[in-house]
Amino acid sequence: MATKKPKYGDQAFLDYAKKIVNHPNYAGMPDPIGERGEIQWEAPSNRKSGKFKDTHHLRREWWRQKAISIGIDPNTNSTWISATAKSVHPFGKKPCKTCGKELEIAYAYPNEHLFQRLRKLRYIGSTFEFSETEHICDLIQRLHQNFGEIIFDDLPRLLSTTSIHVPAIPKSINKWKEYLRAQYIPQEPRVLSPGAMSNPPDRLDGFHSFNRCCRSTSDTGRSKENLKSYVTDRRVFEYWVDGDWVAADRLMGQVRSNSVFNQEDCFNISQGGLHPKPCQADHIGPISLGFNHRPQFQLLCKTCNSGKNNRMYASDVRLLIEVELTGEPVISWFAEKLWSLRKGSVNNAETGLRLSKLLRDNRHTYMSLLKSILDGGHHTFLASLLSLEVADFDPEFKNLKTVNHLTHFDSLTRNARTTKYATEQKARRIRIAFSSLDEYHKKENRSAFIISNQDSKSEFSKGLVELQKLQQTTASLDRKIGSIVSEQGVSESDLRALASILPIILSENKTQFERVRAHFVKGMNAVGRELSDLWDSERYVRTTPDEIIE
Ligand SMILES: [Zn+2]
Ligand SMILES: [Zn+2]
Repeated sequence: MATKKPKYGDQAFLDYAKKIVNHPNYAGMPDPIGERGEIQWEAPSNRKSGKFKDTHHLRREWWRQKAISIGIDPNTNSTWISATAKSVHPFGKKPCKTCGKELEIAYAYPNEHLFQRLRKLRYIGSTFEFSETEHICDLIQRLHQNFGEIIFDDLPRLLSTTSIHVPAIPKSINKWKEYLRAQYIPQEPRVLSPGAMSNPPDRLDGFHSFNRCCRSTSDTGRSKENLKSYVTDRRVFEYWVDGDWVAADRLMGQVRSNSVFNQEDCFNISQGGLHPKPCQADHIGPISLGFNHRPQFQLLCKTCNSGKNNRMYASDVRLLIEVELTGEPVISWFAEKLWSLRKGSVNNAETGLRLSKLLRDNRHTYMSLLKSILDGGHHTFLASLLSLEVADFDPEFKNLKTVNHLTHFDSLTRNARTTKYATEQKARRIRIAFSSLDEYHKKENRSAFIISNQDSKSEFSKGLVELQKLQQTTASLDRKIGSIVSEQGVSESDLRALASILPIILSENKTQFERVRAHFVKGMNAVGRELSDLWDSERYVRTTPDEIIE
């Protein structure tokens, strides 16, 4: 069904334009209102005729007088007109006409120069995602959340330019933010860019209608916006797994930046060979097979980590069984049955690979179940599978260390929080999970092997029928989520608004959603039993020595 792309920015922009036209800073602006009572926002220089053909020139003269009145000399200052537009702007920020996103007009947003410098830092690397519309203050806070105190050592070098020397600042995020806002940003540093470019007298406020998020020159701004993200690695959100993903992400960042971890040897060091440091964080049980995203990692060197390739070795299975003995779940609800039936059958590399392959087909089946839920339009229920509530807590690890090449901490405290950062993390998880579900079915269809039997079919359809009944209460939110997540130029502000209300609605519907989920659990259990019975089938028994599973 082709629908016209809604414009998120229109209303916000209109409200803004009204405030500007009526603001005393723009008093006397020539031709503010057109013949039909509309705001004359634009004043193109190429009007050849008509009542408003001179608006452009008249407004330029208005800006000249304005410049003089605030002490900027148009004769000696070559950038007088944009300096004036920045100086008289009453709000310091404006919404984007296309998407509605509000950005500051100041040089507050990182650009490719800064990204290049950041990527060179060992603990940041290439998988950490950046956004051109993330305020520099938010970015340094996120770096601090993920990588800790080490960033304070690197910030002066990262931010210095040929014309700006960054002084010594105390190791405090608030002190850094104060410095950035009061001193650094006003100098318009080369490594930052403005949220909106000035262009007087073409637009009434002196700025382009499109912000940095939707720069009109190309679509790159918008597609980069879609990649915008807040934590370490998007792959962990692609498979809809369980677990405290906030704590797990935090610990992943620590493995990259904390010297406790990056001096540690690879888990396989005793087997001989080269294992270059620093190690990477390996989810002992791969996320792609349905294991939880949880805060425990095995330290593997780059070589061992890429060799592992979404499979499990017998040692991984042993480790996971030990964790389960402490009462901590390691695998997501949809893979629990197959895991519990077959974890005891793994005793060497071949059987480890065999279980990995079985779990992969279990995942294909689960993802196809999610797709049928998505096709039914039950977005609210799907969102209930994302454990968004864990973002309301700020995890704090006590005494981080390594034990036998594994991450370890004495205790984990979860401090309640209700910050913008929590909402952004939820928004990010929603966006990546839904867009990955869509992509998964575009690229996985050919190779996917879907298990379907009498019991699974019957339970899945019972669950879907229950969801149909629930649609009386969820329909409008379903549509809202659907339109937000399917939108190509998804608006970050809409997504955040959704992320902040969604947990409330999910908790109101908790009982009903649990009843639905019980059917899907039974269905996936039937899938798990069938896969377990295929343990000796040719599809899963190893055939080539270096078989790779994606
Ligand atoms: Zn925009
Ligand atoms: Zn290694």
